[in-house]
Amino acid sequence: MKFKIAPQAPRGMHDLLKDDAELFLGIFNEILKHSYLYGFEYIRTPIVEKEEIFTASLGAFTDVIEKEMFYIDKKEKGEKYVLRPEGTAAIARAYLQNGMHSWPQPVKLFYFGPMFRYERPQAGRYREHYQWGLEIIGTEDPIYDAKIIQTFDRFLRKFKLKDFIFRINSIGCLNDRNKYKKYLKKYYKKYLKNICEDCKRRYVNNPLRLLDCKNEKDQEIKKSAPVIVDYLCKQCEEHFKKTLEYLEELEIQYELDPHLVRGFDYYSKTVFEIYFVEKTTAIGGGGRYDYLIKFLGGKQIPGVGGAIGIERLMDIFKIHQIKLNVYKKPLVFIAYATEKAKKYAYYVYDLLLKNNINVVENFAKNSLTSQLEYADKIGVKYSIIIGHYEMGSKSVILKNMLDKIQETIPLANLVEELKSRLK
Ligand SMILES: [Zn+2]
Ligand SMILES: [Zn+2]
Repeated sequence: MKFKIAPQAPRGMHDLLKDDAELFLGIFNEILKHSYLYGFEYIRTPIVEKEEIFTASLGAFTDVIEKEMFYIDKKEKGEKYVLRPEGTAAIARAYLQNGMHSWPQPVKLFYFGPMFRYERPQAGRYREHYQWGLEIIGTEDPIYDAKIIQTFDRFLRKFKLKDFIFRINSIGCLNDRNKYKKYLKKYYKKYLKNICEDCKRRYVNNPLRLLDCKNEKDQEIKKSAPVIVDYLCKQCEEHFKKTLEYLEELEIQYELDPHLVRGFDYYSKTVFEIYFVEKTTAIGGGGRYDYLIKFLGGKQIPGVGGAIGIERLMDIFKIHQIKLNVYKKPLVFIAYATEKAKKYAYYVYDLLLKNNINVVENFAKNSLTSQLEYADKIGVKYSIIIGHYEMGSKSVILKNMLDKIQETIPLANLVEELKSRLK
């Protein structure tokens, strides 16, 4: 039986190849070094989580929960599974499950991996996208709100990027938010007939998100809406003030954005987003989540974190022509002249690799000419040529690809010879 197969990745997901693939790995490599340097340790959580981890923490009336969850068909004892839409709730779950409260606090973790949203794919929004995330759990100290921002800022500056800014706001504690919601609703009540359909729903279900509205006709109304910082309690106000002072101390560029709320219920106090001048969408963001662990059934353990979208970061790197080389171009090619010498050539090839020499082959081509053409194309400095005679005398021919000079070298000296020539 024959099946007709469409060789097509799932909608909104894609392969990474060549330069893009190398840039991705290069960024990953830099993230590892940077995260460890700034005191975070790596955590990996499953790509699949129980649905409730997110419904209990993000809030029922958010886009992610209402329409973007990526459900999995298989269920376990009636529990629904989803492909994780974000990292933080899963890390909080892991904190509880692994008893991290008994580790020295605060616990500083970083993660890197794919997140999933079942939404209509559009520019810069994919169904599968990667995130680098940082979390600091077990402290309310505003110095750690600043530390999350500092770690992202210093990472971007490592690559001489500077045309970005942190937009920052405080949405206070639950009390502040409830108080503010009342005033916000009171203000919007006058405009209920005028606002967009989404906002009409937000007004009822999740009034904070009224401030997220991108609809043109609502902007004028939004502009004069009351701002949450005016409703912060003494403690939250102090916390925000200190966070900003730390940022100033480190000379981190930020601007206050009184309408920034971030969509999820688990946020409290500090929220922030990272904007580049070239882009209208944020490349990352985050905030404090002092209630998240409580939402998931634990004690009230405070935390703060943030994440950067790797695809968006890659766009920025491309705009600024930043290249990160993980791939090292091979400088030596190995060729065989006769079918009989192929095995010996393979042995020599393996010997060079074992000695850490970056050697490349094209054993699939059987004429020496086409092998050397390939060597020219990839631009190696030396080719090693192995024929019947070399096999018998335990030697190789070493050809300089620039001046085309060939010499015979005993196999016993080859590694040393190449190492000194390639220095
Ligand atoms: Zn407060
Ligand atoms: Zn609206």
